[in-house]
Amino acid sequence: MTIASIAAALDVRNPSDGRSVATVKVNDRESVNAIAGGLRVAQGAWAETAPRERARWMHRWRDWILAHTDELTDLLQAETGKVRPDALVETTASCEFITYYADHAEQFLADNKVKSSGLLSLPKRLSTSYHPYPLVGLITPWNFPITLFLMDAAPALAAGCAVLAKSSEETPLTCARVVEGWNEIGAPPVLAHVVGAGSTGAAVVDAVDYVQFTGSTATGRAVAIRCAELLKPLSLELGGKDPAIVLEDADLPRAVEGIAWGGLFNAGQVCISVERVYVVAEIYDDFVARLTQRVQSLSQGSGLGNDVGAMVTENQVDIADRHVSEAVLAGARVAAGGTRGALGNYYAPTILVDVDHTMACMTEETFGPTIPVMRVADEDEAIRLANDSTYGLSATVWTRDHARARRVARRLQAGAVNINDVFSNLFATTLPHSGWKSSGIGARLGGAQGMRKYCRVQAVTEPRVPVLAREVTWYPYTSRRTAIAGRVLRVAAGRGVKQRLGLNKEQSR
Ligand code: NAD
Repeated sequence: MTIASIAAALDVRNPSDGRSVATVKVNDRESVNAIAGGLRVAQGAWAETAPRERARWMHRWRDWILAHTDELTDLLQAETGKVRPDALVETTASCEFITYYADHAEQFLADNKVKSSGLLSLPKRLSTSYHPYPLVGLITPWNFPITLFLMDAAPALAAGCAVLAKSSEETPLTCARVVEGWNEIGAPPVLAHVVGAGSTGAAVVDAVDYVQFTGSTATGRAVAIRCAELLKPLSLELGGKDPAIVLEDADLPRAVEGIAWGGLFNAGQVCISVERVYVVAEIYDDFVARLTQRVQSLSQGSGLGNDVGAMVTENQVDIADRHVSEAVLAGARVAAGGTRGALGNYYAPTILVDVDHTMACMTEETFGPTIPVMRVADEDEAIRLANDSTYGLSATVWTRDHARARRVARRLQAGAVNINDVFSNLFATTLPHSGWKSSGIGARLGGAQGMRKYCRVQAVTEPRVPVLAREVTWYPYTSRRTAIAGRVLRVAAGRGVKQRLGLNKEQSR
């Protein structure tokens, strides 16, 4: 799709063959504001609705999604160019986010009794309560139009927020259809979807009370700057350059299969895909030979039985192509792939060897079906190079020694580490999903935290004991009352009887 041609409508094209899939109307700022206004009106009653009742609507929505799996998967394939298995994972596995947050809302949103930290607050009963942000904006990229929407829509809706979603201008159809499902089941009108590129996204940022942004680091920074101007809370899930570390005691066949899939699933367009591999010298040649064999065995296309699909945008093919050709010019060797397709947004599954950190393929996010593999002397060098990145989204470690893997994980600067696996943190809804360094601010999911982030927390104090007409620290400030207040405060601040009573001369001097 040509973004420059966007005026009032978007032409959504199938990336595998360029065929037009649909034309959709773009929401300008005025319409975003009107939709946001409607959501705000409906949200009041939604927040008052008991979590269990909200859960009933969410369960019905999940049932609707599961009943429409084929339709949604077809649509997803058409607008993203994904192969069937990659698309199917998205439509079905994402339902867990709805079920989990619907079922835990009552527990996660319950008032908390809080213990006092010292004598000053002891006479008070302390508690906290959660209050949903009225309107949450979800801005998402094109690589997972359903999953990246549901990961945040589910906890926000379950918390009692209204949600305004803007999916990528490249892939607006499937998310719009899932939102239609919410309306088709007759749920309260607290969820809406808008279409458009950056200016629509900017209007969403301005219209909502909390921004959850998923996308590139460059756009995330622009969103953060705007949120700073508006003093608006936000959470950012941004780009990555995830390393895989393969140690000499790895289960080699599994490491090869895992890294092949982790680098090429969804044509490499996964924020936590394997973007660079460090293999210790002893097993490097064996690893490269096996990986090359596996990658050369994969088929590419959009039909049933194909392994690797198209890339969503032509621009993304250009980036993969540039990273490969620049690396080759600088001395790297293509062990598999290394070519772009004649028709559609295809780039062949590729392995690059003889690479190093002077090359963009090892330092910039590629977001494509390329796996650069680098030989390292040992574990220490692998960790040093893995951390030599502005990103810190996730990483994988491959070794049979789990204690060693955990030690390596602790030294890695990444929001998640998967041991002998790829992506396994992604659908672990009880784990936080967060990027370190330029990969993000805040976290999504992570059990209660994933829902409470969509709430403001209120602290409440109430007297535990009968109260006086006025506290000793209140007016009037007579010398007698000041002396009493001083003693009370000392008793509260001190530790040990002598210090509390001011008898410890050494310390009081
Ligand atoms: P992008 O930053 O170009 O666009 C993301 C979204 O932001 C789109 O919906 C876009 O229309 C919108 N947008 C653009 N300008 C805006 C503005 N000024 N204000 C508000 N919204 C604006 O990203 P992309 O190319 O669509 O997606 C690929 C990127 O997303 C990669 O960097 C990838 O790593 C990242 N990503 C991160 C995660 C994660 O969880 N960390 C998940 C998936 C993708």
